[in-house]
Amino acid sequence: DSSLHELDPDIAAAVDAELHRQQRTLEMIASENFAPVAVMEAQGSVLTNKYAEGYPGRRYYGGCEHVDVVEQIAIDRVKALFGAEAANVQPHSGAQANAAAMFALLKPGDTILGLDLAHGGHLTHGMKINFSGKLYNVAAYHVDTQAGQVDMTEVERLAKEHKPKLILAGWSAYPRRLDFAAFRRIADEVGAYLMVDMAHFAGLVAAGLHPSPVPYAHIVTTTTHKTLGGPRGGVILCTQEIAKKINSAVFPGQQGGPLEHVIAAKAVAFKVAASDGFKERQQRTLDGAKILADRLHRADVQQHGVSVLSGGTDVHLVLVDLRHSELDGRQAEDRLHSVGITVNRNAIPDDPRPPMVTSGLRIGTPALATRGFTAEDFHEVADIIAEALKPGFDAAALTARATALADKHPLYSGLGR
Ligand code: PLP
Repeated sequence: DSSLHELDPDIAAAVDAELHRQQRTLEMIASENFAPVAVMEAQGSVLTNKYAEGYPGRRYYGGCEHVDVVEQIAIDRVKALFGAEAANVQPHSGAQANAAAMFALLKPGDTILGLDLAHGGHLTHGMKINFSGKLYNVAAYHVDTQAGQVDMTEVERLAKEHKPKLILAGWSAYPRRLDFAAFRRIADEVGAYLMVDMAHFAGLVAAGLHPSPVPYAHIVTTTTHKTLGGPRGGVILCTQEIAKKINSAVFPGQQGGPLEHVIAAKAVAFKVAASDGFKERQQRTLDGAKILADRLHRADVQQHGVSVLSGGTDVHLVLVDLRHSELDGRQAEDRLHSVGITVNRNAIPDDPRPPMVTSGLRIGTPALATRGFTAEDFHEVADIIAEALKPGFDAAALTARATALADKHPLYSGLGR
């Protein structure tokens, strides 16, 4: 059997180059993380060969005795981690978890109420050309532009006006916590299901550093690769009452054979997420985001039109507001890239610039926290970013400082060649 390098040097070279990029630059895309080697080992295992349509103990294929063990461990661990009554670990991604959750509870044409994409919601929360916007009737709530927070009065008003069958709480770009109890109260008032998409903050919830939506929501979806730090994939948590509907919505409703190699990797990630080390890392993630928010809200950057949306953060990310800066989102993203820091530009509420340009940056700390960054390191990163966003920045000096931080915290040193 040939190695990847022998069989396919073109792909091997690109993989090596990507490893090198991850090692040499500072990864601050808020939805990214570095999966442990053990997670990648499980994901690269022989389980990739196995068909296992169905669920543990009820499969449509023979030879599932070992993948049954794997999937049952994953289910048990994620239920325990989040205190959920039931779990489905088969969704191939966060988008598919959301598709299955809605497929289970809604009929085409039913109304959903979710956070507007332009205000921090996800594509699957009702964007026009996503399945959610095409199949369902969509009403959207917003972030109050002054306060920078979701306006619960508007949520209540829209819920009463549109009588949605499902209210969706969750976000891809929002620096604060949502009030799950208030969402549930509104959902109950109008007879809607409450679905929480905790993809971004699931790791914080697992560590007990963010309120859990599980006691309030009928259904909770998540990805496993963001703050949770596992393989790319999705999970659905729900009450026992709707578990059967969810299972049949995932398979055969939305998917065929589950990715048992990824499910094995999810199980490993859930084990890691239950550890003290994981909690400590999530605390550093939060501390790092606060350090960043404080630094990017100071007078020396505000003077150049740069500030932080909502004035701070309660989570793992900061939204930089460039509405009053000459620098637009794309230019700011490029500028940070040029000094070795990877972030993404992001639309912010009432963004005056078009979606491909934007007036915001989304900057997250999970990947660097996984890499071992301390508060002191985050102060240095925050300072590099602040300097880079000012006119007349010194690219070479800032790149050297970013590289020094990367060197201080080696990543995947046993991998590559
Ligand atoms: N839900 C939220 C809130 C997200 O931010 C994302 C990813 O960005 C998803 C769902 C979709 O996850 P995936 O990219 O795995 O489909």
